[in-house]
Amino acid sequence: MEYAYDDQNIFAKILRGEIPNKTVYENDHALAFDDIAPQAPVHVLVIPKGPYMSLDHFARDASAAEHHGFMQAVAEVCRITGLEAGFRGISNTRTHGIQDVPHYHMHILGGRQLGRMLSD
Ligand code: AMP
Repeated sequence: MEYAYDDQNIFAKILRGEIPNKTVYENDHALAFDDIAPQAPVHVLVIPKGPYMSLDHFARDASAAEHHGFMQAVAEVCRITGLEAGFRGISNTRTHGIQDVPHYHMHILGGRQLGRMLSD
């Protein structure tokens, strides 16, 4: 699989500070910020700072430090937003996953009962 990262995507622009975001948590390897169109009371996006297009790209090519930093950000988002009752982490990927932004991100959704995982 060839991964061709496009640095003009909107999350790359957020990482460069070219457009604003509502930061929830940040460390050396990851940034977490509120989704601009929330679909639940808590809807945060966790993204790596490195140029990875998708979950499988990140899983294959990210360093151990990047993996650790990303998962630490997920844990901090859960703690900061108070998701003790549970949540859903979603990483839409490419065409079948209906991924709109080609920079790897995990949606963290919670704060209400979310319903079953797939609708069709
Ligand atoms: P996906 O379809 O999984 O690629 O999801 C992309 C997500 O990015 C959507 O939930 C959008 O609402 C969100 N989004 C797009 N632009 C921004 C932005 N400037 N700030 C925060 N979230 C955004």
